[in-house]
Amino acid sequence: MKKYPIGFNIRTSKEPENNTPMEVCKGVIEPKKSVVQVYFPHRGMGWAYYNDSFDLKVGDFVYVEGKLEGYRGQVTEVNYSFKIKLSDYKKVIAVIDTNVKGDFYLAGSHVVSFDRNAIPFSKVLTWFKAPQNDEEYVSGNDDTNRFPLDDLSKMKISHDAADRGHDYYIENRVGFVEIDGTRGHAIVEGSENYEIEFDYIDGEISNLKCSCFCSGACKHEFAAMLQLKESLELINENYEDEYNGYFAIISKGVFMNTVMNRKVSGKISLGI
Ligand SMILES: [Zn+2]
Repeated sequence: MKKYPIGFNIRTSKEPENNTPMEVCKGVIEPKKSVVQVYFPHRGMGWAYYNDSFDLKVGDFVYVEGKLEGYRGQVTEVNYSFKIKLSDYKKVIAVIDTNVKGDFYLAGSHVVSFDRNAIPFSKVLTWFKAPQNDEEYVSGNDDTNRFPLDDLSKMKISHDAADRGHDYYIENRVGFVEIDGTRGHAIVEGSENYEIEFDYIDGEISNLKCSCFCSGACKHEFAAMLQLKESLELINENYEDEYNGYFAIISKGVFMNTVMNRKVSGKISLGI
């Protein structure tokens, strides 16, 4: 008898904890004024920015104001000795916390954690999207699109959106998926990066929503469902004993570029 039959999530009396603090800015550390060079991989170039809010180090991932607002850059140079005209420079507005601790398991194109504190959605989201402080969001629920995860043909989605979603899945654009109890989140990399949320109860998906605000089910949602299905099968096959009502998967690419990239020490152990 399987203790936690994956795909038939039990309802837990304890609701998922949503009070994880946003660990975006290293606000507690004394800022140290600097002019930094920030490299933007999507543009293949770097530019100089003024910083008076953080103590920036080479390798830090940051968001800036100006034309490249919303794109993640990496600090490649820090200068403390400078004299600049302030109006010539845009500023660094956020530093991302990419420190993670815990055990990670390989599962196909992604790595998995069964520890709620290792790569929580609220933290990982800042690796994909600049923090938005003053935006206000409202959402509504369309509860008519419910379908079993193991039969996506029951999902109400256009052929075109499903085809493109399948391409996204094959291109490994589903960066992150988390299931905490019955609540699910995903991040899909597209022209922008999109957040997806859903419920997953007794093998059934409901209340699926994507931040692209398309009417009807979208390609991002379909890609996320395909990835979730694949990852659950791999977890079920290989790590059933580890699963305790929570897991998060992150693509190997993001894991390598964001987490491993910064580590100068730490232990990796591989096993079957
Ligand atoms: Zn979407």
